[in-house]
Amino acid sequence: MKSRWSDQEAERFVARYARRWGRDLALRTYASRLLGREPSLVLHGGGNTSVKTQITNLLQDRISALMVKASGHDLARIEPEGHTGLDLSHLVRLQNLEQLDDRQMVDEFMTHRLDPRSQVPSIETLVHAFLPAKFIDHCHADSILALTNQPHGAALVQEALGDGVLVLDYFEPGFSLAKASAAAFRHDPGRTGMVWMRHGLVTWGQTARESYEATIDLVSRAEAFLARKATRSLSLEVRTSPEAARSGWNRVAPILRGLLARPTGHPDRPWERVVLIPLLSQGTLDLLDSHEGRSLAVTPPLTADHLIRIRNLPLWIEPPENDDSHAWKERIRKALSDYSEEYEAFAQRHRRPGPETGSAADLSPRLILIPGIGAACAGRDVKAAGIARDIARQTFMVKARIARMGGTYQGLDESHLYLMEHRGIQQAKLAGGEKPLRSHVAVVTGAAGAIGSGISRGLLEEGCHVAVTDLPGDRLESLAAELNGRFPNRVTAVPLDVTSTRSVAAAFDSIILEWGGVDLVVINAGIALTGSLAEMDSGEFRKSERVNVEGTLHLLSGAARHFRLQGTGGDVVLVSTKNVFAPGAGFGAYSATKAASHQLARIASLELAEFGVRVNMVAPDAVFSDGARRSGLWEQVGPDRMRARGLDQEGLEEYYRKRNLLQARVTADHVARAVLFFASRQTPTTGATLPVDGGLPDATPR
Ligand code: ZN
Repeated sequence: MKSRWSDQEAERFVARYARRWGRDLALRTYASRLLGREPSLVLHGGGNTSVKTQITNLLQDRISALMVKASGHDLARIEPEGHTGLDLSHLVRLQNLEQLDDRQMVDEFMTHRLDPRSQVPSIETLVHAFLPAKFIDHCHADSILALTNQPHGAALVQEALGDGVLVLDYFEPGFSLAKASAAAFRHDPGRTGMVWMRHGLVTWGQTARESYEATIDLVSRAEAFLARKATRSLSLEVRTSPEAARSGWNRVAPILRGLLARPTGHPDRPWERVVLIPLLSQGTLDLLDSHEGRSLAVTPPLTADHLIRIRNLPLWIEPPENDDSHAWKERIRKALSDYSEEYEAFAQRHRRPGPETGSAADLSPRLILIPGIGAACAGRDVKAAGIARDIARQTFMVKARIARMGGTYQGLDESHLYLMEHRGIQQAKLAGGEKPLRSHVAVVTGAAGAIGSGISRGLLEEGCHVAVTDLPGDRLESLAAELNGRFPNRVTAVPLDVTSTRSVAAAFDSIILEWGGVDLVVINAGIALTGSLAEMDSGEFRKSERVNVEGTLHLLSGAARHFRLQGTGGDVVLVSTKNVFAPGAGFGAYSATKAASHQLARIASLELAEFGVRVNMVAPDAVFSDGARRSGLWEQVGPDRMRARGLDQEGLEEYYRKRNLLQARVTADHVARAVLFFASRQTPTTGATLPVDGGLPDATPR
C-alpha cells in the first residue's frame, strides 16, 4: 500500500479549514480522508482518528483539547465538524478510575464537550485521550486482521511487522481497552504503533503525516507477509458461475426474504420486512463451493464493531435435493429455526443475572450463505443491507487469505461476542430512520409520466425502495437520475413493456436481484385514444387494449405469483380513472379498456385476499403535469379536448378544476397520497376505489 500523502493537498486543506478550525484539525481532516479512501483499511464509519490541540475560549483561556472522530462518521468524507472537541485534561484523569461503565463514560464525554452542538464521540475516545501522541490513527485493516484472527496471531504479527509495534491481547472496546493500551504504552513507549488482537491497528506521531504513514508502512508489511505465505488455493469440486447464481437467487431470494420477515401481531401491518441484497462475485461463490467454505465462513466476525451489522454468526443453508419452491421453503424454515435455537443456547451460556445494558432486539441472521447461490445480506433497508454486504465481502476476503496461508480462522470468543452484541452503546448506532415504508419495495409502472413520477416520489419520501419502470428511453433515465440524486440507492430504473409477459417477468427478476423481492405493485401505465365509435380504428383500439387491459393482467398475474412465493402478503394499487364511472363521449377506447382493467383489479382483490394481499384503486380526474414533467396521456388527448371545447391549455386546466365540487386542481401529489393511504394500510380495505377528483357526483363509485 502506497502513501497518498501530498504536501500540496495538505496545504489546500489548511487554506480551506485552518482559519476557522485551526491548522491541527485541518491536517487531521486531510489525513483522516486519506485513511478513509482505502476500503481495505476502513469501511462504513469504521476506524477513528484524533488530534490533541489547544483552543482559546471566550475568556482567552488556553484549553487542551482532544478532537476525536464522532461515532459513525465516515472517514472518507469527514469534515472538521466530524471530530468532536473534548476537554483533554479531564479525560486524562479518568485513567485513575478503577471502572467506568458505558453510560458513565458517554456522560463524561457529553458533559465535557467544548461545543454543545457536537456529536457523541467514538467508543474508542479514551484510547485517544490516554495515549500521549499528538496525532492518532486507528483502523481495522484487512491485512492486520488476517494476522490477528488466527490462533498464534501475536507471533504472526511480530513476524510480519517486526518489533516496531506493541501487541495487545483482546480487550473490550471502551474504558478497559483504553486503560490496557495506555499501560502497554507506558511500559514500552518507543514504538510507532500497536496491534490489538482481533480488532485492528493503532499508530501515532507528532504530525498527521507521521501517524498516517506509520499505518501505511505497517499495513504494507502485513500485505507483503501475507503474499509470501499464500501458497495454497481453495479446493473446489464444482464451480458456480455468477449467471447460475443469479438464476438461483431469483427463485430463492423471495422465499428467503419472506421467511426472514418477522410477524408483528398488527392486523393491518403484520410483517416487519427486510431488504435482501446479494453478493454473487466469483470469489464469494468459490468460497461457498469450496471444501473449507463452511468451516471458514461460519465463524464470528472480524471485529466487534461488525457484530451489529452481521450478527455473531452467518446462517449456512445447504440447497435441498429437490430444487422446487416447496423444498426450499421447508429447508429455509428449518435452518432459521435451528439458528434461533442455537442462538438461545448461546445466550443461555453467557447471560448474566441483572439488567442488560442493551438488547439485541432482532435476532434473525443478517448474512445467509447458500452454496450455488451466493451470500444474501439482510438489513431493515438498503443502507443497512449494503453495509452488511460490504462487511461480508471484507470478511470473506480476510478468511480466504488465512485459508491460503494454511491457517485457521479464530474470531472473538463467545463471551465477548455476547457482551458486545448486547451493549447499548453499539445498538444505538442502529437507531433512527423509522419511516413507515422503510423496508418496503415497490414497483411503479408508467413511472416516467406525470402521475407515475409523483407516486414514485411520494413512496420514496416515506422511505420505500422504488423500481421506476417505463418503456426504455430518456424519460425513464432522466426520472431515475433525478430521483437518485434525492434518494440515493433507493431508486432503480427498470425498462418495461407491460404488454410483454417476458418483459414483466424480467422486471420482477431484476428487482429481486436488487432488493430480494417486491411488496407493492402500482399499476399506472396506460395510454389514451380519442375518437368516436363510428370512426374507431380497431387496430388503434387493440393497442389501448394491450396496454390498459393486458398490461394490467400481466402485472396482476406477476404480482400474484410473487406474493404467494414470498408469503408476506402485499399490496396492489391500480391507477384507475374517473372515466370508469363517468365515461366521456369521444373517449370510448380509453373508458372501456380502463373499465376492464378496473374490473380485473377487483377480481384480484377477491382472489388474493387469502394470501394477505390487498388490491385497491385510485380514480383521479385529469392530472396535466408533475412539475416540468408533462402527462403523456394529456399530450395525446389534450389538443382534441381543447378543440372540442374551444379552449387553450390554461383554459382546459381551468375547465377541469371548475367542474368539481371543491373547485380543486388535481395534482400528481394528490394521487401519490391516495396510493400511500393504501400502501401504508391505514384501514382494513381491499377492492375499494378512492376518487381523487375534487368531488364529481356522477363519478362517485358505487
Ligand atoms: Zn476499533
